This record gives sequence, C-alpha cells and structure tokens, in this order.
Amino acid sequence: MSTTRRFYVEHISRETELTGDAYTHARSVLRLKEGDEVVLFDGSGREYTAIVNRVSKGSLLCGVLSERACDKDSRVPLCLCVGALKGDKTELVVQKATELGAAEVIVFSSRFCAAYMNEKKLERLRRVAREAAQQCRRATVPAVRYFDSLPAALEACADYKNKLFACEFAERSEADLRALSGSCALVVGSEGGFAEEEFAAARAAGFAGVTLGRRILRAETAAIAFTAVVAYLLGELG
Ligand code: SAH
Repeated sequence: MSTTRRFYVEHISRETELTGDAYTHARSVLRLKEGDEVVLFDGSGREYTAIVNRVSKGSLLCGVLSERACDKDSRVPLCLCVGALKGDKTELVVQKATELGAAEVIVFSSRFCAAYMNEKKLERLRRVAREAAQQCRRATVPAVRYFDSLPAALEACADYKNKLFACEFAERSEADLRALSGSCALVVGSEGGFAEEEFAAARAAGFAGVTLGRRILRAETAAIAFTAVVAYLLGELG
C-alpha cells in the first residue's frame, strides 16, 4: 500500500466520508476511484482498511473492511519542547519530531525568543503533525501545544520520567544518556538560546542539563538531533 493512500480522518465509522483537503488529494493527486483501497486512521493508534464505495462532488465515501493496531508508533513516550522559531522552522521541527516518533511537541516562548505564536500558526503546526504522521505511517498524531512561558512548558512535562534540558552553555551533561530508559521530555531553546536563570529554573523543576557538543547548533538542528539521539538510545530507531 502506497504511503500516500493513507488518510487522517477525525471520526471513523463503517461508512467514512473523505472531504476537504483529503478529498482533493484523493481525487486530484491520487485519482482514486470507486473500488480503490485506502487506509484510514484517526490518531487513536488503530488503522482501518477501506474501499472507496462512492465518489461524488466534494466527497468520497469509504466502506471500512477491517481494523488493526498499528505497530509503527513509539513504545516509549517522548516529548519535545522547543522554543518558538522564526519563519517556518517550527514546522520543520514538528514534522521531523513526528517522523522520529515523538508523542507530544510543546512549543514555548521564553526570554530570548523572537518568534510569536497565534491560533492560526498553532493550527498549522497541528496540520503538519497530521500530515507527517500520515506520510510516515504512524497511526497516532503527536499533540502539539503552546505555552507562553518556559515555566508553564516545564510544568507540563512533570509526569515524564527523564527530563533533559539542552543547554548551550552547560559544560557537561548531568544525565547519563546511555543509561536512559522510560519516558523522556526534552527541552531545546529558540534561536536566542536560554538565560542562566531559565536553566536554573529548569534544574529546580527536575531537568538535567545536557550538552550537545562543543559547537553551537542552530535551534532546529539541536531539536531534531537531540530527538533522534534520544529516540535511538530508547531503542526506538533500531
Ligand atoms: N543564541 C545562542 C545559541 C542558541 S542555540 C548562542 O549564541 O549562544 C538554540 C538552542 O539549541 C539552545 O538554547 C540549546 O537548547 C540548543 N543547543 C545548541 N547547541 C547546543 C549545544 N552545543 N549543547 C546543548 N544545547 C545546544
């Protein structure tokens, strides 16, 4: 089954309708017709094989044939918290974190953060997450949330077992990454980086400072590389 025949639908029932962008993609790009097979998913972790039963203007009616659990999702919950980035860099990070298996992406504003967030941008990020999940064959879509302060974002990670804070001015890592197991929350700053007080607040909230090496990475590189390294260490990329 080609990856492009996967469709995210909010509610799946025995007869599921594809409308809007999904309809346009199905018709204009994939040229799907009656009798064609598709895979539907609703972000719950299950996926559904369906057949296109009826094509009408603006809607494709799909009959669900079977349902199964999807084995592509991460077993270990991973949350990436990233400072809001300029241009479309946050979208890039959400897309890559989704592919790498993150369960959740939190975007935050912090002292040296130059980008802003609004409902429209947040909605766009959620859409990027859905499309990335669709493309990489996940059956869950990472939740994307925004907090307008770093303490609020840190607080939202309280339940993660491991809390790691990528700090560009940390000289050494306070956590032994090679021994990681269990759920992980990762924090990466925006282009402007972190203030000393922000790092201190994170440590007080239970985060361990982590260095990503001697070079200063761009924020998006740091976010993607950190997620990939931790996913690997958790056994999710093997
Ligand atoms: N403006 C800052 C750099 C910010 S880099 C400066 O000039 O110093 C953006 C973010 O990427 C940082 O806040 C940190 O979370 C992460 N990062 C980049 N390089 C890093 C490194 N070598 N070690 C740990 N974190 C790093």
